[in-house]
Amino acid sequence: MKLKKIYICSFRNIEKAEIYPDDKFNLIVGNNAQGKTNFLESIYLLGTMKSFRLARNPELIKYGNPFAIVRGLVDNEEVLQEISLSIENAGKKVRINGKPVTQIADFFGCLSMVVFSPEDLAMVRGLPDLRRKYLDRAIFSSDISYLSLHQEFHRILKNRNNLLKREDRNGLDTWTERLAETGARLVVKRVSYIQKITKLLTDFYAIISGHHEQAEVIYRSEVMKKDGTAGSAEEVRLSMLELLHKNASDENRRGLTLTGPHRDDINFSINGKSLKFHGSQGEQRSFILALKMAEIEYIKKLNGNPPILLLDDMTSELDMDRNNNFMEFLKIKDMQVFITTTSLDNITLSGIQNYKVFPVRGGTILQ
Ligand code: ATP
Ligand code: MG
Repeated sequence: MKLKKIYICSFRNIEKAEIYPDDKFNLIVGNNAQGKTNFLESIYLLGTMKSFRLARNPELIKYGNPFAIVRGLVDNEEVLQEISLSIENAGKKVRINGKPVTQIADFFGCLSMVVFSPEDLAMVRGLPDLRRKYLDRAIFSSDISYLSLHQEFHRILKNRNNLLKREDRNGLDTWTERLAETGARLVVKRVSYIQKITKLLTDFYAIISGHHEQAEVIYRSEVMKKDGTAGSAEEVRLSMLELLHKNASDENRRGLTLTGPHRDDINFSINGKSLKFHGSQGEQRSFILALKMAEIEYIKKLNGNPPILLLDDMTSELDMDRNNNFMEFLKIKDMQVFITTTSLDNITLSGIQNYKVFPVRGGTILQ
Protein backbone atom coordinates (compact mmCIF):
# COMPACT_ATOMS: atom_id res chain seq x y z
CA MET A 1 0.00 0.00 0.00
CA LYS A 2 1.44 3.36 -1.04
CA LEU A 3 0.29 6.95 -0.80
CA LYS A 4 1.04 8.57 -4.16
CA LYS A 5 -0.28 12.04 -3.41
CA ILE A 6 -1.49 13.92 -0.35
CA TYR A 7 -3.45 17.16 -0.43
CA ILE A 8 -4.08 19.08 2.79
CA CYS A 9 -6.15 22.23 3.32
CA SER A 10 -6.69 24.14 6.60
CA PHE A 11 -5.57 21.25 8.76
CA ARG A 12 -4.02 22.38 12.10
CA ASN A 13 -1.23 24.86 11.18
CA ILE A 14 -1.04 23.62 7.57
CA GLU A 15 -2.78 26.12 5.30
CA LYS A 16 -2.25 24.21 2.04
CA ALA A 17 0.03 21.41 0.90
CA GLU A 18 0.29 19.12 -2.08
CA ILE A 19 2.83 16.33 -1.64
CA TYR A 20 4.05 13.51 -3.82
CA PRO A 21 5.71 11.06 -1.39
CA ASP A 22 8.37 8.52 -2.20
CA ASP A 23 7.27 4.87 -2.33
CA LYS A 24 9.84 4.02 0.32
CA PHE A 25 11.22 6.62 2.78
CA ASN A 26 9.78 10.05 3.48
CA LEU A 27 11.64 12.22 5.94
CA ILE A 28 9.70 15.11 7.46
CA VAL A 29 12.29 17.47 8.88
CA GLY A 30 11.91 20.65 10.91
CA ASN A 31 12.34 22.39 14.23
CA ASN A 32 9.87 22.00 17.06
CA ALA A 33 6.31 23.25 16.56
CA GLN A 34 6.55 23.59 12.74
CA GLY A 35 3.86 21.04 11.74
CA LYS A 36 5.67 17.68 11.39
CA THR A 37 3.33 15.73 13.67
CA ASN A 38 0.34 17.60 12.20
CA PHE A 39 1.34 16.27 8.78
CA LEU A 40 1.54 12.65 10.06
CA GLU A 41 -1.73 13.10 11.93
CA SER A 42 -3.48 14.17 8.70
CA ILE A 43 -2.28 10.97 6.98
CA TYR A 44 -3.41 8.82 9.89
CA LEU A 45 -6.85 10.44 9.81
CA LEU A 46 -7.19 9.60 6.14
CA GLY A 47 -6.83 5.90 6.91
CA THR A 48 -8.63 5.66 10.24
CA MET A 49 -10.77 8.82 10.64
CA LYS A 50 -9.20 9.05 14.09
CA SER A 51 -6.35 11.14 15.46
CA PHE A 52 -3.52 9.27 17.19
CA ARG A 53 -3.39 12.29 19.51
CA LEU A 54 -7.04 11.68 20.43
CA ALA A 55 -7.93 15.16 19.16
CA ARG A 56 -11.51 16.26 18.60
CA ASN A 57 -12.73 17.80 15.34
CA PRO A 58 -12.46 21.52 16.27
CA GLU A 59 -8.81 21.03 17.28
CA LEU A 60 -7.97 19.59 13.85
CA ILE A 61 -9.30 22.56 11.85
CA LYS A 62 -6.96 25.50 11.32
CA TYR A 63 -7.89 28.31 13.72
CA GLY A 64 -10.52 30.58 12.21
CA ASN A 65 -11.50 28.20 9.38
CA PRO A 66 -14.85 26.40 9.01
CA PHE A 67 -13.45 23.04 7.85
CA ALA A 68 -10.34 21.05 6.99
CA ILE A 69 -9.73 18.75 4.04
CA VAL A 70 -7.28 15.88 3.61
CA ARG A 71 -7.14 13.94 0.36
CA GLY A 72 -4.94 11.03 -0.61
CA LEU A 73 -4.33 9.01 -3.73
CA VAL A 74 -3.73 5.42 -2.63
CA ASP A 75 -2.09 2.71 -4.69
CA ASN A 76 -3.26 -0.67 -3.44
CA GLU A 77 -1.62 -3.35 -5.60
CA GLU A 78 -1.86 -1.09 -8.65
CA VAL A 79 -5.49 -0.15 -7.99
CA LEU A 80 -5.73 3.61 -7.46
CA GLN A 81 -8.31 5.09 -5.12
CA GLU A 82 -8.84 8.65 -3.96
CA ILE A 83 -9.86 9.02 -0.33
CA SER A 84 -11.22 12.42 0.58
CA LEU A 85 -11.87 13.42 4.19
CA SER A 86 -13.61 16.62 5.22
CA ILE A 87 -13.62 17.66 8.85
CA GLU A 88 -16.13 20.08 10.33
CA ASN A 89 -16.85 20.84 13.98
CA ALA A 90 -19.96 18.69 13.78
CA GLY A 91 -18.38 15.63 12.15
CA LYS A 92 -16.26 14.01 9.48
CA LYS A 93 -17.26 12.90 6.00
CA VAL A 94 -15.36 10.50 3.77
CA ARG A 95 -15.62 9.94 0.06
CA ILE A 96 -13.90 7.21 -1.91
CA ASN A 97 -13.49 8.02 -5.59
CA GLY A 98 -16.09 10.75 -5.08
CA LYS A 99 -18.71 8.43 -3.55
CA PRO A 100 -19.80 9.14 0.06
CA VAL A 101 -18.91 6.33 2.46
CA THR A 102 -21.80 5.36 4.70
CA GLN A 103 -20.58 2.07 6.17
CA ILE A 104 -17.33 1.42 7.96
CA ALA A 105 -16.92 -1.81 5.96
CA ASP A 106 -16.59 0.22 2.72
CA PHE A 107 -13.82 2.30 4.23
CA PHE A 108 -12.04 -0.51 6.05
CA GLY A 109 -8.73 -1.56 4.53
CA CYS A 110 -8.61 1.18 1.86
CA LEU A 111 -5.59 2.74 3.56
CA SER A 112 -4.21 0.71 6.43
CA MET A 113 -1.44 2.13 8.55
CA VAL A 114 0.42 1.69 11.77
CA VAL A 115 1.71 4.64 13.77
CA PHE A 116 4.44 4.91 16.36
CA SER A 117 4.37 8.13 18.36
CA PRO A 118 5.65 9.35 21.74
CA GLU A 119 2.08 9.01 23.07
CA ASP A 120 2.43 5.21 22.71
CA LEU A 121 4.75 5.08 25.70
CA ALA A 122 1.77 5.89 27.92
CA MET A 123 0.63 2.40 26.96
CA VAL A 124 3.50 0.92 28.95
CA ARG A 125 3.34 3.30 31.89
CA GLY A 126 -0.36 4.17 32.06
CA LEU A 127 -3.63 2.55 33.06
CA PRO A 128 -4.95 -0.76 31.63
CA ASP A 129 -7.59 0.91 29.44
CA LEU A 130 -4.83 2.32 27.18
CA ARG A 131 -3.46 -1.22 26.64
CA ARG A 132 -6.93 -2.63 26.03
CA LYS A 133 -7.63 0.15 23.50
CA TYR A 134 -4.38 -0.62 21.68
CA LEU A 135 -5.11 -4.33 21.55
CA ASP A 136 -8.70 -3.82 20.40
CA ARG A 137 -7.60 -1.45 17.62
CA ALA A 138 -4.82 -3.79 16.50
CA ILE A 139 -7.23 -6.74 16.29
CA PHE A 140 -9.80 -4.65 14.46
CA SER A 141 -7.17 -3.66 11.85
CA SER A 142 -6.86 -7.30 10.85
CA ASP A 143 -10.40 -8.55 11.62
CA ILE A 144 -13.34 -6.26 10.85
CA SER A 145 -15.82 -8.61 12.60
CA TYR A 146 -14.10 -7.76 15.88
CA LEU A 147 -15.57 -4.23 15.80
CA SER A 148 -19.20 -5.42 15.93
CA LEU A 149 -18.38 -7.96 18.64
CA HIS A 150 -16.69 -5.22 20.67
CA GLN A 151 -19.63 -2.83 20.20
CA GLU A 152 -22.09 -5.58 21.12
CA PHE A 153 -20.20 -6.38 24.32
CA HIS A 154 -20.14 -2.72 25.41
CA ARG A 155 -23.85 -2.34 24.68
CA ILE A 156 -24.60 -5.36 26.88
CA LEU A 157 -22.25 -4.08 29.59
CA LYS A 158 -23.96 -0.68 29.60
CA ASN A 159 -27.42 -2.24 29.89
CA ARG A 160 -26.30 -4.58 32.64
CA ASN A 161 -24.66 -1.72 34.60
CA ASN A 162 -27.83 0.37 34.25
CA LEU A 163 -29.86 -2.50 35.65
CA LEU A 164 -27.44 -3.04 38.55
CA LYS A 165 -27.98 0.59 39.58
CA ARG A 166 -31.76 0.11 39.79
CA GLU A 167 -33.94 -1.26 42.61
CA ASP A 168 -35.83 -3.48 40.20
CA ARG A 169 -33.30 -5.86 38.61
CA ASN A 170 -35.74 -7.86 36.61
CA GLY A 171 -34.01 -9.50 33.64
CA LEU A 172 -30.50 -9.35 35.15
CA ASP A 173 -29.91 -13.08 34.57
CA THR A 174 -30.46 -12.70 30.84
CA TRP A 175 -27.98 -9.81 30.65
CA THR A 176 -25.48 -11.84 32.71
CA GLU A 177 -25.75 -14.76 30.26
CA ARG A 178 -25.31 -12.47 27.28
CA LEU A 179 -22.37 -10.68 28.89
CA ALA A 180 -20.57 -13.98 29.58
CA GLU A 181 -21.25 -15.30 26.07
CA THR A 182 -20.10 -12.15 24.23
CA GLY A 183 -17.30 -11.44 26.71
CA ALA A 184 -15.92 -14.97 26.26
CA ARG A 185 -15.75 -14.57 22.48
CA LEU A 186 -13.95 -11.25 22.93
CA VAL A 187 -11.39 -12.72 25.35
CA VAL A 188 -10.69 -15.67 23.03
CA LYS A 189 -10.08 -13.32 20.07
CA ARG A 190 -7.75 -11.15 22.15
CA VAL A 191 -5.74 -14.13 23.43
CA SER A 192 -5.56 -15.66 19.97
CA TYR A 193 -4.24 -12.37 18.48
CA ILE A 194 -1.55 -12.15 21.17
CA GLN A 195 -0.49 -15.74 20.47
CA LYS A 196 -0.13 -14.94 16.77
CA ILE A 197 2.11 -11.90 17.24
CA THR A 198 4.29 -13.18 20.11
CA LYS A 199 6.93 -14.88 17.96
CA LEU A 200 7.10 -11.87 15.62
CA LEU A 201 7.44 -9.54 18.59
CA THR A 202 10.37 -11.48 20.06
CA ASP A 203 12.11 -11.56 16.66
CA PHE A 204 11.66 -7.83 16.05
CA TYR A 205 12.70 -6.92 19.57
CA ALA A 206 15.92 -8.87 19.07
CA ILE A 207 16.58 -7.05 15.78
CA ILE A 208 16.09 -3.58 17.30
CA SER A 209 17.83 -4.16 20.63
CA GLY A 210 20.56 -6.45 19.33
CA HIS A 211 19.83 -8.76 22.29
CA HIS A 212 18.04 -12.08 22.09
CA GLU A 213 15.68 -11.54 24.97
CA GLN A 214 12.20 -12.90 25.29
CA ALA A 215 9.78 -10.02 24.68
CA GLU A 216 6.30 -11.03 25.68
CA VAL A 217 2.72 -9.78 25.80
CA ILE A 218 0.68 -11.58 28.42
CA TYR A 219 -3.09 -11.35 28.70
CA ARG A 220 -4.23 -10.86 32.29
CA SER A 221 -7.74 -11.89 33.18
CA GLU A 222 -9.44 -13.59 36.08
CA VAL A 223 -10.79 -16.13 33.61
CA MET A 224 -7.38 -17.32 32.43
CA LYS A 225 -6.33 -20.81 33.48
CA LYS A 226 -3.35 -21.45 35.75
CA ASP A 227 -1.18 -22.45 32.76
CA GLY A 228 -1.76 -18.99 31.22
CA THR A 229 -4.10 -20.18 28.44
CA ALA A 230 -7.72 -19.14 28.01
CA GLY A 231 -9.21 -22.38 26.72
CA SER A 232 -12.22 -22.46 24.42
CA ALA A 233 -14.93 -19.77 24.28
CA GLU A 234 -17.22 -22.21 26.15
CA GLU A 235 -14.67 -22.67 28.94
CA VAL A 236 -14.19 -18.91 29.25
CA ARG A 237 -17.96 -18.38 29.26
CA LEU A 238 -18.41 -20.84 32.12
CA SER A 239 -15.61 -19.41 34.20
CA MET A 240 -16.91 -15.86 33.59
CA LEU A 241 -20.40 -16.93 34.71
CA GLU A 242 -18.95 -18.50 37.84
CA LEU A 243 -17.09 -15.28 38.71
CA LEU A 244 -20.15 -13.14 37.97
CA HIS A 245 -22.20 -15.24 40.40
CA LYS A 246 -19.42 -15.16 43.00
CA ASN A 247 -19.19 -11.35 42.78
CA ALA A 248 -22.97 -10.81 42.70
CA SER A 249 -23.24 -9.13 46.12
CA ASP A 250 -20.31 -6.78 45.40
CA GLU A 251 -21.80 -5.92 42.03
CA ASN A 252 -25.19 -5.18 43.58
CA ARG A 253 -23.62 -2.92 46.18
CA ARG A 254 -21.46 -1.02 43.67
CA GLY A 255 -23.90 -1.06 40.75
CA LEU A 256 -21.11 -2.17 38.43
CA THR A 257 -20.10 -5.25 36.43
CA LEU A 258 -16.88 -6.46 38.02
CA THR A 259 -15.97 -9.36 35.72
CA GLY A 260 -15.35 -9.30 31.99
CA PRO A 261 -12.91 -8.21 29.30
CA HIS A 262 -13.49 -4.53 30.25
CA ARG A 263 -11.51 -5.24 33.45
CA ASP A 264 -8.67 -7.23 31.86
CA ASP A 265 -5.11 -6.05 31.35
CA ILE A 266 -2.13 -6.76 29.13
CA ASN A 267 1.36 -7.10 30.59
CA PHE A 268 4.48 -6.34 28.59
CA SER A 269 7.63 -8.08 29.73
CA ILE A 270 11.23 -8.76 28.76
CA ASN A 271 12.74 -12.00 30.00
CA GLY A 272 9.86 -12.33 32.44
CA LYS A 273 10.42 -8.87 33.97
CA SER A 274 7.68 -6.26 33.77
CA LEU A 275 8.51 -3.55 31.21
CA LYS A 276 6.53 -1.02 33.24
CA PHE A 277 8.52 -1.49 36.44
CA HIS A 278 11.92 -2.68 35.18
CA GLY A 279 12.29 -1.34 31.63
CA SER A 280 14.46 1.69 30.78
CA GLN A 281 12.95 4.35 28.49
CA GLY A 282 14.94 2.97 25.55
CA GLU A 283 13.75 -0.56 26.27
CA GLN A 284 10.15 0.59 26.51
CA ARG A 285 10.46 2.44 23.20
CA SER A 286 12.17 -0.52 21.49
CA PHE A 287 9.47 -2.85 22.78
CA ILE A 288 6.61 -0.73 21.46
CA LEU A 289 8.40 -0.35 18.10
CA ALA A 290 8.80 -4.13 17.92
CA LEU A 291 5.14 -4.57 18.85
CA LYS A 292 4.09 -2.25 16.01
CA MET A 293 6.36 -4.07 13.57
CA ALA A 294 4.76 -7.36 14.63
CA GLU A 295 1.36 -5.79 13.94
CA ILE A 296 2.51 -4.74 10.45
CA GLU A 297 3.95 -8.17 9.67
CA TYR A 298 0.75 -9.83 10.78
CA ILE A 299 -1.43 -7.56 8.59
CA LYS A 300 0.96 -8.22 5.70
CA LYS A 301 0.65 -11.98 6.18
CA LEU A 302 -3.12 -11.72 6.11
CA ASN A 303 -3.51 -9.28 3.21
CA GLY A 304 -0.26 -9.78 1.35
CA ASN A 305 0.15 -6.02 1.38
CA PRO A 306 1.96 -4.16 4.17
CA PRO A 307 0.35 -1.09 5.74
CA ILE A 308 2.03 2.32 5.73
CA LEU A 309 4.28 3.05 8.71
CA LEU A 310 4.20 6.45 10.39
CA LEU A 311 7.05 7.13 12.82
CA ASP A 312 6.71 10.28 14.87
CA ASP A 313 9.89 11.30 16.62
CA MET A 314 11.20 7.74 16.64
CA THR A 315 14.83 8.67 17.09
CA SER A 316 14.66 10.29 20.52
CA GLU A 317 15.54 8.01 23.43
CA LEU A 318 16.91 5.28 21.16
CA ASP A 319 20.69 5.10 21.09
CA MET A 320 22.61 5.16 17.79
CA ASP A 321 22.92 1.34 17.67
CA ARG A 322 19.21 0.76 18.12
CA ASN A 323 18.36 3.50 15.61
CA ASN A 324 20.74 1.98 13.07
CA ASN A 325 19.40 -1.55 13.68
CA PHE A 326 15.89 -0.31 13.08
CA MET A 327 16.77 1.65 9.93
CA GLU A 328 18.67 -1.37 8.52
CA PHE A 329 15.61 -3.46 9.16
CA LEU A 330 13.25 -0.93 7.49
CA LYS A 331 15.51 -0.76 4.43
CA ILE A 332 14.81 -4.36 3.48
CA LYS A 333 11.06 -4.09 4.03
CA ASP A 334 8.80 -3.28 1.11
CA MET A 335 6.86 -0.64 2.96
CA GLN A 336 6.21 3.08 2.64
CA VAL A 337 7.50 4.92 5.71
CA PHE A 338 7.01 8.49 6.94
CA ILE A 339 9.48 9.61 9.60
CA THR A 340 9.52 12.93 11.43
CA THR A 341 12.74 14.26 12.88
CA THR A 342 14.23 17.57 14.02
CA SER A 343 17.47 16.81 12.12
CA LEU A 344 18.55 14.51 9.30
CA ASP A 345 21.67 13.80 11.40
CA ASN A 346 19.46 11.61 13.62
CA ILE A 347 18.76 9.21 10.79
CA THR A 348 21.19 6.79 9.20
CA LEU A 349 20.71 7.30 5.49
CA SER A 350 23.74 5.33 4.27
CA GLY A 351 22.72 2.70 1.78
CA ILE A 352 19.24 4.18 1.32
CA GLN A 353 18.61 5.11 -2.30
CA ASN A 354 14.90 5.80 -2.34
CA TYR A 355 13.92 8.67 -0.14
CA LYS A 356 12.48 12.16 -0.24
CA VAL A 357 13.03 14.92 2.29
CA PHE A 358 10.20 17.31 3.17
CA PRO A 359 11.36 20.30 5.21
CA VAL A 360 8.52 21.78 7.31
CA ARG A 361 8.54 25.43 8.37
CA GLY A 362 5.65 27.28 10.00
CA GLY A 363 3.04 24.89 8.58
CA THR A 364 4.51 24.96 5.06
CA ILE A 365 5.68 21.62 3.71
CA LEU A 366 8.41 22.13 1.12
CA GLN A 367 9.23 19.60 -1.56
P1 ATP B 1 7.81 18.88 17.67
O1 ATP B 1 9.17 18.71 17.02
O2 ATP B 1 7.91 19.74 18.87
O3 ATP B 1 7.07 17.63 17.90
P2 ATP B 1 6.03 19.47 15.41
O4 ATP B 1 6.67 20.04 14.18
O5 ATP B 1 5.68 18.04 15.37
O6 ATP B 1 6.94 19.82 16.66
P3 ATP B 1 3.19 19.98 15.57
O7 ATP B 1 2.73 19.14 16.68
O8 ATP B 1 2.96 19.48 14.20
O9 ATP B 1 4.73 20.35 15.75
O10 ATP B 1 2.49 21.40 15.80
C1 ATP B 1 2.86 22.57 15.12
C2 ATP B 1 2.02 23.74 15.56
O11 ATP B 1 0.67 23.58 15.16
C3 ATP B 1 1.96 23.97 17.07
O12 ATP B 1 2.73 25.13 17.39
C4 ATP B 1 0.49 24.23 17.36
O13 ATP B 1 0.28 25.36 18.14
C5 ATP B 1 -0.10 24.41 15.98
N1 ATP B 1 -1.53 24.02 15.92
C6 ATP B 1 -2.13 22.98 16.52
N2 ATP B 1 -3.43 22.92 16.23
C7 ATP B 1 -3.68 23.98 15.44
C8 ATP B 1 -4.86 24.49 14.79
N3 ATP B 1 -6.05 23.88 14.92
N4 ATP B 1 -4.73 25.61 14.02
C9 ATP B 1 -3.52 26.22 13.87
N5 ATP B 1 -2.38 25.80 14.45
C10 ATP B 1 -2.45 24.70 15.23
MG1 MG C 1 5.92 16.51 16.78
